[in-house]
Amino acid sequence: MDIRFDANAEAFRSEVRAWLEANVPTDPMPSDPDAAFQYMSNWQRTMYDAGWAGIHWPKEYGGRGATLMEQAVFSQELARVNAPPLANALGLMIVGPTLMAHGTEEQKKRYIPKILSAEEIWCQGFSEPNSGSDLASLQTRAVEDGDDFIINGQKIWTSMAQHSHMCILLVRTDPEAPKHRGISYVLVDMHSPGVTVKPLRQITGGAEFNEVFFEDVRVPKSHLVGELNAGWRIAMTTLTHERGSASFGTQVNIRRHLDDIIEVARSTTRNGHALSKDPLIRQKLADAYIRVDIMRLNNFRSITSQLRGQPPGPEASLDKLYWSETHQHVQQIGQELLGLRSQLSPESAYYPTSIDLQYLFLFSRAETIFSGTSEIQKNIIGERVLGLPKG
Ligand SMILES: Cc1cc2nc3c(=O)[nH]c(=O)nc-3n(C[C@H](O)[C@H](O)[C@H](O)COP(=O)(O)OP(=O)(O)OC[C@H]3O[C@@H](n4cnc5c(N)ncnc54)[C@H](O)[C@@H]3O)c2cc1C
Repeated sequence: MDIRFDANAEAFRSEVRAWLEANVPTDPMPSDPDAAFQYMSNWQRTMYDAGWAGIHWPKEYGGRGATLMEQAVFSQELARVNAPPLANALGLMIVGPTLMAHGTEEQKKRYIPKILSAEEIWCQGFSEPNSGSDLASLQTRAVEDGDDFIINGQKIWTSMAQHSHMCILLVRTDPEAPKHRGISYVLVDMHSPGVTVKPLRQITGGAEFNEVFFEDVRVPKSHLVGELNAGWRIAMTTLTHERGSASFGTQVNIRRHLDDIIEVARSTTRNGHALSKDPLIRQKLADAYIRVDIMRLNNFRSITSQLRGQPPGPEASLDKLYWSETHQHVQQIGQELLGLRSQLSPESAYYPTSIDLQYLFLFSRAETIFSGTSEIQKNIIGERVLGLPKG
């Protein structure tokens, strides 16, 4: 494993840095959710117009055709300038790569350019009220009717569904088959008659995810991805991209949060001493610092194996488990150091940092749940990476 970026990647870094410094929005993200969404769409469009969206995707599908190393450098630089999130995060992270691997040529040409430009926002309709960790038990039903499927059922925790034009939907097409073999993967227009979206409020105060109901929704059979009843394998491609997507950028972000927390320790005095002089707190911060740096080395390990031509596999679960648990740990320390001030609004004059650690702490609770909980990642690592017997 090589833990450095080569000269070409560093030259690319200078180019990216210059562009970002000139173009990253300087006005703050609006607090109104619709306005915030528009802000993220505008930012993605700016990046797309300048050729920076989907930079590792092939040029034939509107990407930049950059190398994996360049993609890693790009994520680091985005995080370094604290660039706003992109509106079509799921489209870019999971839908595009899945369609490139399993879609027909027509599907790729139809959908991929609009994923990049944020003209069509995507959501992921996998989880159901009784099917989360045991995803293959899903019950949303699709029945063939001429050239269409008719879909009935309910999805839940569907992030960004309220802003989405399209959904990757897992449906049961053969209820008699063993559960993994009766599932199909379809692309659903969220504006179809019979689709209802109901937002769910989270502990952060936001309502990013939703319940989605399907009542006699007609979906053309041309929207099937891959073969009928062979959707499980395609869903695994999607989940592998989701779990393996936490990249160098995530590491830089967590490191920025930790640096901020270290500043809180330096600037906070208890019993006449700065918290950063307390041996127990120093130990905690040093431990967190090492954990975050291990994330960076793990990223080099993943990229090295991908450069050797090994596709991301169940090892993506190692990355997902490690980054989500590490981030939660870092945010927990942040709350401990803030003490009673953790209850204040970040706008308060007594809040000691410009980063909203309160929001990050609350949101980090979700990170060990989405894309498969930590327990599920441990099961995958045990069974499919280490080859241990099934529990
Ligand atoms: C912020 C957020 C965004 C999300 N966005 C989406 C989205 O866009 N689309 C989508 O489809 N889903 C989304 N999800 C749903 C997410 O994928 C599920 O919440 C997750 O898979 C867990 O399923 P569950 O909530 O039904 O919990 P359950 O599966 O009911 O699990 C409950 C508990 O039991 C444990 N458990 C379950 N089975 C096992 C086992 N075999 N071994 C050990 N422990 C086990 C779990 O680890 C967990 O602690 C999102 C979730 C969150 C929090």
